[in-house]
Amino acid sequence: MAAKNVEAGRRSFAELVSVVLQPLPELSVPHRGPKYVDVEICFQFTKEEIARSAEPFRFSVVLKFLRQRPSLDVIRSFIHLRWGLSCMPMVTAMRRPRNVFIRMTYEQDFLEAISLEACEVNGVQYRVFHWKPDFNEDEEPSLVPVWIVLPGLPPNFYHESFLKIFTAPIGRYIRRDNPTKCATRTNGARLCLEMDASKKPISYFWIGMPGLGRKQEILYETLPTFCINCKVQGHNAHTCNLKNQKDGEKIWMRKNVKDIEEKKNRATSRNKCGVG
Ligand SMILES: [Zn+2]
Repeated sequence: MAAKNVEAGRRSFAELVSVVLQPLPELSVPHRGPKYVDVEICFQFTKEEIARSAEPFRFSVVLKFLRQRPSLDVIRSFIHLRWGLSCMPMVTAMRRPRNVFIRMTYEQDFLEAISLEACEVNGVQYRVFHWKPDFNEDEEPSLVPVWIVLPGLPPNFYHESFLKIFTAPIGRYIRRDNPTKCATRTNGARLCLEMDASKKPISYFWIGMPGLGRKQEILYETLPTFCINCKVQGHNAHTCNLKNQKDGEKIWMRKNVKDIEEKKNRATSRNKCGVG
């Protein structure tokens, strides 16, 4: 079976799907009773236990479709034909109907899937997230894959070890594109990083030997705006409707309370007048 996996690229879709259909590797954690937090039952685990439980899912992503998502079968065959992975991943439903969970076996496939440049399946756009145990379907993580360009970076710095050094303060290195890898386009390096979209990105850094340096500009191709109030991409805290609405409500409420109080006062004085 293991030897056959090497030939995965030549196997049919049905065969590929059957290869990964196997139970999760069993993980045993010491038994424990519930704890009571504010009279409510709570089961607690250590960080290490949670990390071990997430081990089979460490190369998983969540696709969040921006409108009605294609069926799981359509997504599966699209991935099979277009993503160029070495092994067909598990493609499964999530609680929210627009989300889909994609579990890959190999890190290389995961890096490929999270850094795809066209985020769409049959024309339906999606956002992609690295799944982690604290992933919450009701919020979007602020860590997102972002393509950046280092314009004019001399090709001697296209080695992965240099690119990882340059990009460490910006985000987690995912991969460089093929023209950078093969140095067939030498007007700059282009690479994908996992970045925190809620933070202000830096726009340059310096490279050089002691006493002799050059300024390196950074261009962000796909950095989305991220709202820390709503925990979603697409707008930021300044342009947040929810925040503006909340502020508006407060004003409206205050005004309303004032109105009610004024009406009460008027009514009381009328009453007083009536009684008097
Ligand atoms: Zn917002």
